[in-house]
Amino acid sequence: MPSGLTTVRTVADLRTHLAPWRKASESIALVPTMGALHAGHLSLVTLAKSKADRVVVSIFVNPIQFGPCEDFNTYPRDEAGDIEKLGEAGADLVFVPDTAEMYPGGFSTKVSIGDLTEDLCGANRPNHFDGVATVVTKLLLQCAPDMAIFGEKDYQQLLVIKHLVRDLNIPVEILGGEIVRENDGLALSSRNAYLSPSERETAPLLHQTISEVAASLVRGEGADAACVAGRFKLEAAGFRVDYVAVRDPDTLKPLSGPVKRARVLAAAYLGKTRLIDNVPVLPTSQ
Ligand code: AMP
Repeated sequence: MPSGLTTVRTVADLRTHLAPWRKASESIALVPTMGALHAGHLSLVTLAKSKADRVVVSIFVNPIQFGPCEDFNTYPRDEAGDIEKLGEAGADLVFVPDTAEMYPGGFSTKVSIGDLTEDLCGANRPNHFDGVATVVTKLLLQCAPDMAIFGEKDYQQLLVIKHLVRDLNIPVEILGGEIVRENDGLALSSRNAYLSPSERETAPLLHQTISEVAASLVRGEGADAACVAGRFKLEAAGFRVDYVAVRDPDTLKPLSGPVKRARVLAAAYLGKTRLIDNVPVLPTSQ
């Protein structure tokens, strides 16, 4: 393997490896993931390398962010493949804790963020963002990085984490990485592996549809009508739609009527697979 990548599995070992870097005043970036790594994750590693001296990637499929009927047990896992990819991408350290390391017996603390987590994905996945906020808080305290990188693919999650870091005064800079897509526009996701061949053919319509919603907003059409049109289009193609929404890009507050700066977000099922995506509404796309 062409790398200086080290794997650690305990918080104690993580801290042992971080200490000399900190002593040498090297900056540290953390990229939290759930593994099954693809080019989207690796783009965050590349961004991290461009910003910091050292890059730490965590791989942990976090049980407390999955609902009881969700895919925790079947979530794709490929630790050996992930470690090989991270070595090639130039990460320095990969932290792969098991569930007992993250949630030892008697664990009972929950980080819960109001407001921002109550709708969009939060409405359809109760407790999901509490699970995310709790594990990310732990990872930030375990690693104490100078910066942590999250993908815009999970746009609501990115804002939730910026919010929690601000509220709890955690001394870390949160950076967002752009969404990496397949050639046909489908956002890369570990869950794309669940799609059947025919669902895979339909899946790019999600990105196409929210891009059309964004384009109609740029033309001055109202947000509500654009979202309804987007939802109809997805449903006609066989998606079961959770939401198509136009939101303020910083607060995720709903926007209606003609809008200027905004984010179009959508979540929809194809069969059993829940896909999410989002695009910016930018004056420059006029
Ligand atoms: P996950 O392993 O799905 O929890 O994702 C780990 C990180 O990778 C999160 O910050 C995601 O937003 C980010 N990510 C996932 N897919 C993509 C993508 N297609 N492009 C950019 N970042 C992504």
